[in-house]
Amino acid sequence: MKIGFIGLGNMGAPMAKNLAATGHDVTGFDTVAAMPEGVTAATSATEAATGQEVVITMLPNGTILRAVAAEIIPAMAQGAAFVDCSTVDVESARAVAAQAEAAGLLAVDAPVSGGVGGAAAGTLTFMAGGSDAAFAKAQPLFEIMGQKAVHCGPAGNGQAAKICNNMILGVTMIATCEAFALADKLGLDRQAMFDVVSTSSGYSWTMNAYCPAPGIGPQSPADNGYQPGFAADLMLKDLRLSQQAAEAADADTPMGQAATDLYAQFVENEDGTGKDFSAMLPRFESRHRES
Ligand code: NAD
Repeated sequence: MKIGFIGLGNMGAPMAKNLAATGHDVTGFDTVAAMPEGVTAATSATEAATGQEVVITMLPNGTILRAVAAEIIPAMAQGAAFVDCSTVDVESARAVAAQAEAAGLLAVDAPVSGGVGGAAAGTLTFMAGGSDAAFAKAQPLFEIMGQKAVHCGPAGNGQAAKICNNMILGVTMIATCEAFALADKLGLDRQAMFDVVSTSSGYSWTMNAYCPAPGIGPQSPADNGYQPGFAADLMLKDLRLSQQAAEAADADTPMGQAATDLYAQFVENEDGTGKDFSAMLPRFESRHRES
């Protein structure tokens, strides 16, 4: 397939590399980043998108996505697919899809879960929104870049699934960290805490697969000085997207709001920026009960 790939940062570069490695003809563009192995460099987003069967974007946010979409949609071939894998607000995803469809293109919003490691290993999970035809066109590429792709419904539903998942993740990480900090103060050994909770009703992905306590459970960023992993800054971005969506949809999400406020405090007023999102545990460890 002839593929354009725009946004070759931490995630986009390994994804594009994996596509090129399976024999697809990939042309890339990034305002800053270097071309990954096997990817032909274009001098603009328009050049990268022109004449391609599929154009994939992997960009920082909805504002940049909208700007890139406005530039490339008029240049894309009729019937081609615009596949956005960035994590953006639901509204931007739906607006870009409507613009693409009005121009005779197929459109998919397909944010990912699995992080930089999953992108490199080709084991990402894609959660996709768009028509059946658009999903079918992108699916063979999802199979190369990932291990699972779920079609979640019409345009924007991929982003909806992503932010709901990550709202659970943020809330659960905080709950796991504050419980560890409480257990410490109650004199409960961390290994015993893990052994009980990981096999009891408090278990979760954050406890069982990504334990925030160093030296406990499987290898995780806690064992590496809380180097990300999944940075607290990115967790905050996704939590804010969840609250923006909740506001627009008139949904009551008090735990999501509390998690957003805590990560904002951690990233913006404490020393959380640049740390893994599980570094909430040392934060709680050093604190006392507020009266
Ligand atoms: P990144 O900042 O490393 O990469 C973004 C790239 O886009 C950069 O190389 C930047 O130069 C490029 N860019 C910005 N504006 C551009 C433009 N106008 N034209 C072309 N290129 C442009 O970010 P990332 O970690 O690769 O994340 C990308 C997206 O994936 C984000 O939406 C993020 O939320 C999401 N995501 C990231 C992770 C993760 O663990 N890093 C996990 C899941 C989802």
